[in-house]
Amino acid sequence: MAFQLTAEQEAIRDAVREFGENEITPVAREHDEEKKYPADLRKKAAQYDLVAPTIEEEYGGAGMSLLEGIIVTEELWRADPGIGSAIGSAGFGTSMIQKFGDEWMKEEWLPAVAAGDAVSCSCISEPAHGSNVAGIETTAEKDGDDYVINGNKMWITNGTVADVGVVMAKTTPDAGRKGISAILVPTDTEGFEPSKIDNKLGIRASDLAEITLDDVRVPQENLIGEEDKGFYQLMNFFAGGRASVASQAVGAAQGALDAAIEYAGERDQFGQKIGEFQAIQHKLAEMATKVEAARSLTYRAAGYAAEGDRELGMKYASMAKLFASERSVEVADDAIQVFGGSGYVSDYPVERFYRDARITKIYEGTSEIQKNIIADRLL
Ligand SMILES: Cc1cc2nc3c(=O)[nH]c(=O)nc-3n(C[C@H](O)[C@H](O)[C@H](O)COP(=O)(O)OP(=O)(O)OC[C@H]3O[C@@H](n4cnc5c(N)ncnc54)[C@H](O)[C@@H]3O)c2cc1C
Repeated sequence: MAFQLTAEQEAIRDAVREFGENEITPVAREHDEEKKYPADLRKKAAQYDLVAPTIEEEYGGAGMSLLEGIIVTEELWRADPGIGSAIGSAGFGTSMIQKFGDEWMKEEWLPAVAAGDAVSCSCISEPAHGSNVAGIETTAEKDGDDYVINGNKMWITNGTVADVGVVMAKTTPDAGRKGISAILVPTDTEGFEPSKIDNKLGIRASDLAEITLDDVRVPQENLIGEEDKGFYQLMNFFAGGRASVASQAVGAAQGALDAAIEYAGERDQFGQKIGEFQAIQHKLAEMATKVEAARSLTYRAAGYAAEGDRELGMKYASMAKLFASERSVEVADDAIQVFGGSGYVSDYPVERFYRDARITKIYEGTSEIQKNIIADRLL
């Protein structure tokens, strides 16, 4: 049976592609070179329902399914991964608010994020704990009616531009994963101090920061979900998050492939187009096959994740993320080869796709961690 998107899903793809081609691609190089966060484009994208599109309609979102959200991500990254990341990550943490937050949190933050007026961030990783989330050391201690949060968060997307953060902190410090809670922290709270990280290899239009949390005091009503259940709440989003990173990888690979096909039809050597050499044709054929295989696995993973079968969702999302991210870097590398020397400089977008694609092997669980997760479900 052929896997087909519905007419509505195809219409979503076409709309995002048009937005990407008209608004993103023309300014992609400039944003990369200047490491410029695209606040204006994020706002514009929100008018087309492209910011946090899975936020429910009653909270001002587009109410898209996981698969539809993944199509949006793929097309944004196809246009440019850096700007795509900045737009696509504006809702980081909103899934936690939407699924586990109190009504007042949803009303205060979800419409603002969906409208492009506010940005959120998800503060999990720390300098000494990335892959091992259960090891985090940031603490949230009760004091009267408040939590007082202390610690350091590392590699936080949107750290310097976010208005609100979902901070994972230990409420029972010696209990490992059983002692973690999710807490809503407006970023203008005293003691929330981000420092920008601006020496990234790729996705340079996207904001990244280290965050110091120094006696950050928030009311206990800012607890999202249940105390000490934060890790388990987070697990609800692992499958969707990894399928989403897989779609980033597919988008970057498709963008690199598109550029390579176009160039192969333009560049002459030895009196013919390089696209007439079988070596180049075979390279493009292999690249296209990798992209399509990665896309198929990603959509399948999104299907399992949306069905709510946690085990199957985790396994396929890890497979999709592992496969798509590794193939994406290979495809972007091959695209540079098709361009020859021109691929090695920033006149063409393929060196940017190569640098940008590389992050998909690292965040939301590295390739090595994905293999651990897959193997755990095989043995
Ligand atoms: C651009 C960018 C954006 C990010 N955005 C966010 C964000 O918004 N929020 C957030 O919380 N975090 C974010 N991160 C952090 C990201 O999720 C972590 O960098 C990632 O999980 C890896 O953690 P680490 O860097 O501490 O590496 P480590 O965990 O120290 O890993 C180092 C190496 O050891 C390997 N390794 C570790 N443990 C094992 C194991 N058990 N088995 C096999 N190999 C292992 C890893 O695979 C890796 O190769 C971001 C990172 C980057 C670079």
